[in-house]
Amino acid sequence: MMGHSHALSGVVGWMAVVPLLQGAEVFGVSFDLGSGEIIAGALVCAGAALIPDLDHKNATITQTYGFVTQALGGLLNWLFGGHRNGTHSLLFALLMGAITQGLALWSDLAVQIFVFLLVGIAINGLGFGMDKNRTAAGIINALATAGIVLALYTSGVDYTWMGLAVAFGCVLHFVGDCATSMGCPLLWPFLKYRFSSPMAFETDGKVERNVVTPLLTIAIILFSVYLFPWRDLLPEA
Ligand SMILES: [Zn+2]
Repeated sequence: MMGHSHALSGVVGWMAVVPLLQGAEVFGVSFDLGSGEIIAGALVCAGAALIPDLDHKNATITQTYGFVTQALGGLLNWLFGGHRNGTHSLLFALLMGAITQGLALWSDLAVQIFVFLLVGIAINGLGFGMDKNRTAAGIINALATAGIVLALYTSGVDYTWMGLAVAFGCVLHFVGDCATSMGCPLLWPFLKYRFSSPMAFETDGKVERNVVTPLLTIAIILFSVYLFPWRDLLPEA
């Protein structure tokens, strides 16, 4: 799928699991998700849902931070055996989750920097910053990202779920790619078989643009109505 659809699926995926996670305990992480955590998680998940495509030099994520993401992409492409190979496996999702969770436990500052990077990637992937004037778009993207991360920080968002959200974002990426004809080698490096849906569609084809993207967008609107405490905004009767 295209970066845009992957980013949307990250937002929808996180919003969809919020009601299931609320109050639950997964791998020792207990979930108490307020509006801040819902927004932060949706953006982290959207950014993470683009990570597997770092193995492609023209992908949205690889272009996001210029030289830095291009170099990282080149390294991942080499380590994981080319496009849609190792970075599209469950092992990769597990690895990314473990690395970020380690980061989250190690340093609060590292988490904030990582959240900043992922939110920037998410915003870029969701479609901002794709303007004709790349420099201005880049600056506006950076400012918007900084504003969001700062707002989340000052509202005391708790990132103990960071690793899980990142691994989940990667898995959502695989779901999207398994729905296309090229599929994903989910069990790489143990099995080279590419898992693909029997009703596969073309990447950036009519189905993705006219059905998948609009449906994901509608899902985000519906979940937003359902999840956020809008009623609190109304004056008391
Ligand atoms: Zn992909």
